[in-house]
Amino acid sequence: MGLRLYNTLPAQVQPFAPAENNQVRMYACGPTVYDYVHIGNLRTVVAVDVLHRFLLQSGYQVRHVMNITDVDDKIIRKAAEEGLSVKEYTAKYEKAFLEDAASLNIRQPILVRATEHIQKMAEFIAVLVEKGFAYRADDGSYYFRIAKFPAYGKLSKKDFAGMEDGARVDLDEYDKDSARDFALWKAPKPGEASWDTVIGPGRPGWHVECSVMSMDQLGESFDLHAGGEDLIFPHHENEIAQSESFTGKPFARFWFHTRFLLFNNEKMAKSVGNFFTLRDLVLRGFKPSSIRFLLASVPYRTQLNFTFDSLQHAAAAVDRLRNFHQRLTTGEFPEGASDAMSQLARTTDENLRTGMEDDLNTALAQAAIFEMIRAANAAMDSGAFLKDDVPALLAVLQKFDDIFSVLK
Ligand code: AMP
Ligand code: ZN
Repeated sequence: MGLRLYNTLPAQVQPFAPAENNQVRMYACGPTVYDYVHIGNLRTVVAVDVLHRFLLQSGYQVRHVMNITDVDDKIIRKAAEEGLSVKEYTAKYEKAFLEDAASLNIRQPILVRATEHIQKMAEFIAVLVEKGFAYRADDGSYYFRIAKFPAYGKLSKKDFAGMEDGARVDLDEYDKDSARDFALWKAPKPGEASWDTVIGPGRPGWHVECSVMSMDQLGESFDLHAGGEDLIFPHHENEIAQSESFTGKPFARFWFHTRFLLFNNEKMAKSVGNFFTLRDLVLRGFKPSSIRFLLASVPYRTQLNFTFDSLQHAAAAVDRLRNFHQRLTTGEFPEGASDAMSQLARTTDENLRTGMEDDLNTALAQAAIFEMIRAANAAMDSGAFLKDDVPALLAVLQKFDDIFSVLK
């Protein structure tokens, strides 16, 4: 069958394969390092890691880039409150994020930082101005003129007919219903970090950063762009508008969006205050492997409501996997091989693959492995499990763990 993924752009599930050379070029919007990330942010990171790992398992090479947003409205405000430079302020949270990701066994993507691409962003904006897609406001800020990009709204499926030409917004995050010219570049304000560039002094807006860094690393058109569902509008809509105006070519082919992690059936978010960091949960005695397993237990396009009960279940599930692995690798079994167990290994392998190929249905994959464990344990208990059954079952367990990554 091959992998099928939901693509937000045409709003349908489609066969997925890279455009060129067996190599998947993908970009994920990473964290804004103004604070510790919470497990909602990490759900998206784990989902993209699961995708990355399954692509590798499917025989592709993967060039996976993730940005670190290390300058934006919030960072500038918080750094100023603490009397630190933007760099001093963000270094701590970037380090914490990378530690959290490592403890969740995230395969590290190629990391790119906004503050290391400021000149390229300014040059990019200069070209947009030249082509008539952007303009300079009196204060030295630059805006994207969305009336010049008729396809604006194609990702979020919003209809912006009748919008007011020239109405502007300079916040990085803004109201879902407002289609307004958005800030590409913000003129310096007293006390704010600012850079001298070809388009004058100031700092980039949030959206321009991902357009410039993704194309810098992956080329003008690439295979897949990922992020949480809240990024569809305005962030990703704006990335498409900027990038396609700049290149005249399609930007990302696939748009991969993860649904939210909820707590008490509400989006887990800093602004709501209903969040847990990985550190909070580790202090309460939970292991990162349990958290990873829980976050991956529901397909990425289904909302997941976090409860301590479900985290306890995930911890028990990880124990069951580890115990089975232990029993398989250290148990003593009678000589021989059984047809039943080799059939079990084949069926499980097939179910794992078809589950994951079905838009990464991780719930089906987990169900398949626990069914295998149940049947194999029963065979072990009854003496029907034989020594030469071990390699086939171990290979399937390993394949599962190459994606879920909780055995170690
Ligand atoms: P932020 O730091 O808020 O820009 O978020 C970083 C990433 O985490 C983005 O891709 C968000 O879409 C994602 N994200 C934020 N909150 C949640 C949540 N509750 N569940 C899943 N993903 C989230
Ligand atoms: Zn982004």
